[in-house]
Amino acid sequence: MKRIILSRLFIFTISILIQVAFSIVNAKEKSNQPNFIIILADDLGYGDVGFTGSTQIKTPHIDRLASDGVIFEQGYVSSAVCAPSRAGLMTGRNQVNFGFDNNLPVSTLPQYKKENSGLPLNEKTIANRLEDLGYVTGLIGKWHLGDQEHFHPTKRGFQEVWTYPVGGHDYFKSKPDGRGYLAPLESNYKEPQAITYLTDDKGDECVDFIKRHKDEPFFLYASFNAPHTPMQATEDDIELYLHVENKKRRTYCAMVHRLDVNIGRIVKELEKNKIYDNTVIVFLSDNGGPCDSNASINAPYRGQKGILLEGGVRVPYTIKFTKSDPSGITFKEPVTSLDLTPTFVSMAGGEITEADELDGINLLPYVSGDIANAPHDDLKWRFTISATMREGDWKLIRLPDRLPMLYNLKEDPSELNDLAAQHPERVISMLKKLGDWDVTRPHEWFKEGPNWRKNQISKYDKDYKLVQPKK
Ligand code: CA
Repeated sequence: MKRIILSRLFIFTISILIQVAFSIVNAKEKSNQPNFIIILADDLGYGDVGFTGSTQIKTPHIDRLASDGVIFEQGYVSSAVCAPSRAGLMTGRNQVNFGFDNNLPVSTLPQYKKENSGLPLNEKTIANRLEDLGYVTGLIGKWHLGDQEHFHPTKRGFQEVWTYPVGGHDYFKSKPDGRGYLAPLESNYKEPQAITYLTDDKGDECVDFIKRHKDEPFFLYASFNAPHTPMQATEDDIELYLHVENKKRRTYCAMVHRLDVNIGRIVKELEKNKIYDNTVIVFLSDNGGPCDSNASINAPYRGQKGILLEGGVRVPYTIKFTKSDPSGITFKEPVTSLDLTPTFVSMAGGEITEADELDGINLLPYVSGDIANAPHDDLKWRFTISATMREGDWKLIRLPDRLPMLYNLKEDPSELNDLAAQHPERVISMLKKLGDWDVTRPHEWFKEGPNWRKNQISKYDKDYKLVQPKK
């Protein structure tokens, strides 16, 4: 009898020890999970930060992230306008897969079914995935993936939100009963403060989020609206750029400056809490600069927001990884914003399987040199009735009103010399691949999916301007 009791006691003790050991391992794994911050600029021109060549606008804090991290020389977003680009960014899936080709309708016309206008509910967000891995998740700023209750970011994996319902906001004010850009701010963790200057207020919220969650793994989506219209900056910041003759450009410079200052505040807070080294920080823009409306400059690229030339989809893109990851390098192969979801999930200890049907890929083995190939065989975009494809150094653009165009981006990054006539076989081959992809996307919008795409020709497609690069 005594023997049996002793042996049971032994087994009990061992099982307790095993449990303790497991919980130590788990806690250790959890403490090793890096934090993630996506800092998204809105409508920023390619050439308008220091690390992409601007000598006019000073962005020391953004440039520091680039020098501490990896600069993606050919960093793309999945769309040339806001909402679809964000749908791709948030899911890791090319948003064309679920019919999210264009911006949400701004019109209140009755034919638009607003209940369908948003990120389809069966799509999993990066916040959902990180929340499942034990992360605290927060959205500060623009959402723009549906303003109906069922599309709300709190229902899409974000535990804490400080936001507003549509795709932009006035920088100085809101109204209690305001709509659109004057809509009141909303938050599920506090009574939102009165707006001072919106970029500063977002900076405040990001700093506060970091303070509150510094001791647990977190994912912060810092969704700034600078330098999207309306063109509004503080007098003090405009003073810094009085030498810029064009008034709109002067205001734009001041808006980008204020964005940079607030990124500096985020970094400072991370350093203060000794978590900078363990925090992955991404900086990118959601699409190319709309040169006419906000005086942005996409040099050396041609085109702008809404256009599938490089100026519309190639953006300033850098990732500051953790201390043990590569830093101070420039990665030369094409990558996309869709790569962030699998990269983060993998770094957080999760797994992406084929069943997830992601279009992005974990970038870390590529930037660290473990895999020598380019991350993507090709990249494809569709924007309502236009489409384009990257394959190696080649880019094919298919527009509704002309023959396909072909550029060699290595020799001609500004897309000035259409080589289609010299390479008909390449045009045919790429056009076929692009067309096969296009017609085999599940066209949910024929059934019950997002219906804002129906009958809608983009204003950009109608007015396709081949804008010359500015220097
Ligand atoms: Ca945008």
